[in-house]
Amino acid sequence: MVTIFASERLKEIYPQIKLFVEQELYPIEMDLLKRPFNEADTILQEKRAKAKQRGLWAPYLPEKDGGIGLSMIEFAQVSELMAGTPFGHFVFNCQAPDIGNIELMHKHASTFLQEKYLVPLMNGAIRSCFSMTEPEFAGSNPVNMGTTAVLDGGEYIINGHKWFTTAADGANFAIVMANTNTEASRYEKASMILVPIDTKGFHLKRNIPVMGDTGEGWLSHGEIEYTDCRVPVSHLIGKEGSGFLLAQERLGPGRIHHCMRWIGICERAFQMMCKKAVDRDMGDGTRLGQKQTIQNWIAESRAEINAARFMVLHAAHKMDLSGSKAAKNDIAAIKFFVADILMKVLDRAIQTHGALGITDDTLLSFWYRHERGARIYDGPDEVHKSSLAKSVLKEYGLKI
Ligand SMILES: Cc1cc2nc3c(=O)[nH]c(=O)nc-3n(C[C@H](O)[C@H](O)[C@H](O)COP(=O)(O)OP(=O)(O)OC[C@H]3O[C@@H](n4cnc5c(N)ncnc54)[C@H](O)[C@@H]3O)c2cc1C
Repeated sequence: MVTIFASERLKEIYPQIKLFVEQELYPIEMDLLKRPFNEADTILQEKRAKAKQRGLWAPYLPEKDGGIGLSMIEFAQVSELMAGTPFGHFVFNCQAPDIGNIELMHKHASTFLQEKYLVPLMNGAIRSCFSMTEPEFAGSNPVNMGTTAVLDGGEYIINGHKWFTTAADGANFAIVMANTNTEASRYEKASMILVPIDTKGFHLKRNIPVMGDTGEGWLSHGEIEYTDCRVPVSHLIGKEGSGFLLAQERLGPGRIHHCMRWIGICERAFQMMCKKAVDRDMGDGTRLGQKQTIQNWIAESRAEINAARFMVLHAAHKMDLSGSKAAKNDIAAIKFFVADILMKVLDRAIQTHGALGITDDTLLSFWYRHERGARIYDGPDEVHKSSLAKSVLKEYGLKI
């Protein structure tokens, strides 16, 4: 793992985060994964305190908010390091969905919401979730959402059914997408509203089992019913009707975060694959790495991970210079390109490990289970391919 665009600030912080991750987290990662989340959380909170103490906390946040103020291209590179271990992002308070909610609230929440919810979220005292997708409606076209928020005096009354609200279990609040005006134009119907989870009518029905793992705490995906959930109008984020605009804003940087995280996972899986190729004695006087198929996988993975990293850093750089809108096509391209490479590298690493690869004795099965969703969340691959192609073809004069 190397830094490609190394600013002075990055040269200082990068080795510190690398050391922290390798010394503090690698040795305990397998043990943490086997514990219930609450138990793991006690240990993780100690690590979080250590990260804070060493000045490594939430490096994407401005210094005044307890971070280091890294740019997107700088953060992308340390994010890759954190991703080499399952709880890396969590320990530095860079984990989804909190990081997305923090960025959103930083820009668009009122002073009241910032003081009451954003400050403790940035400090790591509470967690949050983001509640948009619904089982009854196609999430890849969320303008068809069914959840409503009706104004009644000074309160919104929210009714709806959501699922895949990641990390709802144990969160302090949800940011809920709901239709505030069903008569408005398609993209102006919805708003984002902060709902504390102890609000009457908020019901976490279950954590949804994903490939045999129900998960809990931060590592879970909740199904939620909102039944006559009343929150004060002061819990609106941004303007009424700006929900889709804000969702787009939230997703831009979010996709860079995900992609760099996936590259970090690829790098760790790649290391494991290479190590296995060297260590595995085939019993015929050869090592596994002497077989040409394994060599092909290693060569292809190396090239693909490098290519993916350059693409992501290029998109991050463009975003730093000109904002999310200007980098729209680059962001669409990395979303499906890197997700695909993640799947390929993980699969090759598992295959190289033989039966061991599908057991829970290595990290590979955890990532295979948890990251298959990469091709689905934040917009399925097909949607990004379609939007990139449309944008390109528009330049050639095609009306779509
Ligand atoms: C691990 C994980 C975590 C998630 N976390 C959250 C969260 O925290 N909060 C939240 O609100 N949601 C979350 N989601 C939900 C996610 O955003 C949706 O699953 C996603 O938007 C797709 O919606 P859907 O599942 O309803 O699929 P659908 O919209 O029903 O689409 C099904 C499939 O159809 C295909 N498809 C869709 N559109 C097109 C098209 N235009 N062209 C061609 N094919 C197409 C794709 O292959 C897609 O996978 C999460 C999902 C996963 C898997």
